[in-house]
Amino acid sequence: MKLPFIFAKRFVAGETLSQTLPVIRNFNSKGIRVSLDLLGENVRDKRVADQTLTDYQDLIKGIVDGGLRSSISIKLTMMGLDIDKSYCRDNLFSLLETARSNDTFVRIDMEGSRYTNDTVTLFSDAQAVYGSQVGIVLQSYLHRTKSDVENLSLKNADIRLCKGAYSEPPQIALQKMKDIRAAYIESGKVLLQKTSYPRFASHDDALINWVKAYTADENIGKNRFEFQMLYGLRQDTCEQLAADGYNVRVYVPYGTMWMPYFTRRLKERKENIFFVLSNLFKK
Ligand SMILES: Cc1cc2nc3c(=O)[nH]c(=O)nc-3n(C[C@H](O)[C@H](O)[C@H](O)COP(=O)(O)OP(=O)(O)OC[C@H]3O[C@@H](n4cnc5c(N)ncnc54)[C@H](O)[C@@H]3O)c2cc1C
Repeated sequence: MKLPFIFAKRFVAGETLSQTLPVIRNFNSKGIRVSLDLLGENVRDKRVADQTLTDYQDLIKGIVDGGLRSSISIKLTMMGLDIDKSYCRDNLFSLLETARSNDTFVRIDMEGSRYTNDTVTLFSDAQAVYGSQVGIVLQSYLHRTKSDVENLSLKNADIRLCKGAYSEPPQIALQKMKDIRAAYIESGKVLLQKTSYPRFASHDDALINWVKAYTADENIGKNRFEFQMLYGLRQDTCEQLAADGYNVRVYVPYGTMWMPYFTRRLKERKENIFFVLSNLFKK
């Protein structure tokens, strides 16, 4: 069964780039940057992965032509990671060539734990060639993340730190919120001390307030890190942070393949179901 787009509207900015443009321009006008995610994942057909690459290359050109303050976020399973790792690497590198010639930044999102190793490896390969043009995401709930943070910090990797959105077993990931927050803070300290520009992705006041307090105590300037939030969540907080002089970026997903992303948002927090329902009754 395919739900109509109106259900996803709270969390997905549009089904096409042109529908999404007003959202991006509105954020930009408030001093908030964007990371655009052309939705899709777990592509198993090379034709679809090839098309995805072309769509992302067109998106980069659209960002430049439109004068948008936006980078892009991608998922490696959209670029063919489920098909073949070296094919996926070729697609990633082709995309990074386009990004480099258009001076655009590419963030590689982190997916479920069966992809973590390959994602870290492909990111490291890409960083060796494309340097600060490419970044990765690490999830504080994974037991392995402490060591990934240490290793990637040595190379001054551009890291977005989040809690983790996929359902993982206790052998692989922390399960209690208190432990996940503590791990986030531990990794956050390392990133702030050892990397040039960490990105803190969370809507959680406990973590946002920790970043603010820790950076103030350690004399780390507001221009040395960024807060990130998802489109449709805590927009008022984003605007307040930007008004207070912090760098803020909103992750804006768009496209027709919105179902897996939308489902993750609903599972994450019961309030999100309420947001979707109340959105249905808005004009
Ligand atoms: C920019 C961005 C990029 C991401 N990229 C990835 C990725 O690549 N891979 C991945 O696995 N995950 C990613 N995530 C998702 C992330 O891992 C978490 O699943 C998601 O952010 C929920 O965790 P949280 O810390 O935001 O808050 P939660 O753990 O959902 O909530 C904790 C507390 O925060 C407060 N809170 C949360 N939401 C709200 C709200 N809307 N309004 C008011 N208070 C709220 C409440 O007090 C709540 O109890 C990303 C998240 C963001 C923001």
